[in-house]
Amino acid sequence: MNHSKFNALLILVGIALFQDVIAQEEFDGSPSLVNITDNVYRTVHRPAAANSVVIATDEGLVVVDGTCRGEGDSAWLKEELGRRFDVPVKYVVLSHDHEDHICDLHVFDDTAVTISHALTRKHILREKRNTSIPDVIFQDEMEFFLGGKQFILYYFGPTHSDNLIQIHIPDEGVLIAPDISRSGKSLVLPDFRDADVNNLIDTLEKLSNLKNVDIVVPGHRGTTTQDRFLDYQKFVMALRDRVLEQMINNASIEEILERVTMEDFSDYGNYDLWLRSNIISMWDNMYRYREPNVNSNGAGSYQSSYPIGYPIGGYESGSQ
Ligand SMILES: [Zn+2]
Repeated sequence: MNHSKFNALLILVGIALFQDVIAQEEFDGSPSLVNITDNVYRTVHRPAAANSVVIATDEGLVVVDGTCRGEGDSAWLKEELGRRFDVPVKYVVLSHDHEDHICDLHVFDDTAVTISHALTRKHILREKRNTSIPDVIFQDEMEFFLGGKQFILYYFGPTHSDNLIQIHIPDEGVLIAPDISRSGKSLVLPDFRDADVNNLIDTLEKLSNLKNVDIVVPGHRGTTTQDRFLDYQKFVMALRDRVLEQMINNASIEEILERVTMEDFSDYGNYDLWLRSNIISMWDNMYRYREPNVNSNGAGSYQSSYPIGYPIGGYESGSQ
């Protein structure tokens, strides 16, 4: 490693450590509510717990998401809001159906209307999520007003899950974008399990270009900025293209894991922890995205090599 590369590495390690120290310092053993702007707050729970965001207006409060990593966080939030504000929670907004981000939010059902994407409600009912069942659902975009503040809910199609939305409060310059953004550079997610990778890439571009956004609130940890959408997009595009290239060259999943190291992204948070699951789940996404060519012995696309537990190969003909 040359000198300047080594120096750059030191700086990056320093930044990563610094960010970690901030995250640890924020949580002092009991949950708290911290200001993001004058009227927007974020809960600080144990490290890595999902963010809950509160928007205060003269006519009532809006709560976006909640967490249950550790018991009673939403119950704590309800108590804390009662202590701080003399207006009730009027709306609860669910960013997506993943329980980690929405649990126990039924504690606000006595005063609040719960809003989500239409598909979120379906997942909540099917999986029997521990949360408030949405009263109001929408398909593409929704707006509501409270205390003179505008709230815009965006759905750009399937990205991370098929029902993730973003919540924009233009008057505050705040965009709440759980699980599609993260503080600093990061892999963002452990895997692409229920993701639509190509639409995720397009949506990251759209989010980076939204007007009236000064602060982005990710799903976990502290606030971030709009340009970080593009850092994540860069990683997802590179991973997709490199895995695809290997698949087109008939590499096995073991060979892909060996060859696609993504070392140029090794300064991204969670690189060590999540790279393997990112590669495997990207492979799985691309397996379902493409049809290989017929090879010289004529079998080609009809011989599947799906490697995880159940090889679904063996078809001699009839591939659709
Ligand atoms: Zn999620």
